[in-house]
Amino acid sequence: MSDPETALHPVPRARVQAMKEYHPPLGCRDALRLDFNENTLACSPKVREVLAGISAGNLTRYPEREPIEAIVAAHLGLAAPQVALTNGVDEAIHVLFETFLEACDELLLPVPTYTMYEVYASATDAHVVKVQAADDLQFPFERLVAAITPHTKIIAIANPNSPSGSVATRAQILEIARRAPHALVLVDEAYFHFYGETVADLIGTIPNLIVARTFSKAYGLAGLRLGLLAGPAELMRWVRRVLSPYSVNSLALACLPPALEDTVYLDWYVGEVIAARSEFEGVLDTAGVRRWPSQANFVLVEIGARHAEFTRRMRKAGVLVRDRSSDPGCDGRVRITIGTREQMRQATAVLNETLAVLRAESEAK
Ligand code: PMP
Repeated sequence: MSDPETALHPVPRARVQAMKEYHPPLGCRDALRLDFNENTLACSPKVREVLAGISAGNLTRYPEREPIEAIVAAHLGLAAPQVALTNGVDEAIHVLFETFLEACDELLLPVPTYTMYEVYASATDAHVVKVQAADDLQFPFERLVAAITPHTKIIAIANPNSPSGSVATRAQILEIARRAPHALVLVDEAYFHFYGETVADLIGTIPNLIVARTFSKAYGLAGLRLGLLAGPAELMRWVRRVLSPYSVNSLALACLPPALEDTVYLDWYVGEVIAARSEFEGVLDTAGVRRWPSQANFVLVEIGARHAEFTRRMRKAGVLVRDRSSDPGCDGRVRITIGTREQMRQATAVLNETLAVLRAESEAK
């Protein structure tokens, strides 16, 4: 038998060999989860009821997505061919990039932004062109427009953006779509509910506009993996060739209609987060912690050189937060998800204690 260490192994594509591994820190999260911008509480009780009613027989069938796609499209005021359900927005991004990006193409990204755009782009032969936001982390509109070239193929705009919580205006998005008619403009509205502004109503009228939405955030279904892409039917036809017809499972499909219908629950949760966000912003201001204005269910804060120690101490005290120091232009900055007011009061006590300990330690030095 050949030695497995020295045996020849099948070699992956050169692109894949050059890819970096990406491991989000999802282990040991039995604490107050203010690290991944999920819903911190629960999904709608109507969704729980539907889940409880799923029989063993239901699970023996392959999932049928089209009827549910039609329901979601109607909910968005769109036609069914304009909407594709996906296994989270992550799959939507992956499939969109696989469908459109090839060698010589450019993916244009304002940074810092959602990490997975670059991860999925690195599996293609396209170049990633990054436009760094200024220190205020506002959307770098003018410089982004100036970076459009004939090779620009996709411009990905998370709106609101992560980790900053900043937004691009509707007028800015329209102008970008107009200035890059040869490119797709992907507007990732993962945090739409906490902001309230959308460009989904423009789908079909702007030929190069694609919108992504997730059910992982406000709807509280991150574990089910549900997202969608909405765009002109002519573009969605190509996306459907690459998208697996099986990637959205039957539990997720069954949960989608009750999740959409229960607007009372959704409005309550979103209202709670928005109230908690402004209360928590007040806490940060009182504590003298620099923060960036956020239209999402999180806030980015300046901790400084001891960001890792801060994150570690918060975790030890039962509150998970996300160190974003390795994001471009974010050294010393930590992102804190906003949950309910009650949860944020609990987080406030831990935050104030942690800051006091760090400050006392640095004064003692
Ligand atoms: N887009 C943005 C901007 C996000 O922040 C996230 C989640 N962190 C996603 C997409 C991923 O969403 P999903 O859970 O639907 O894959």
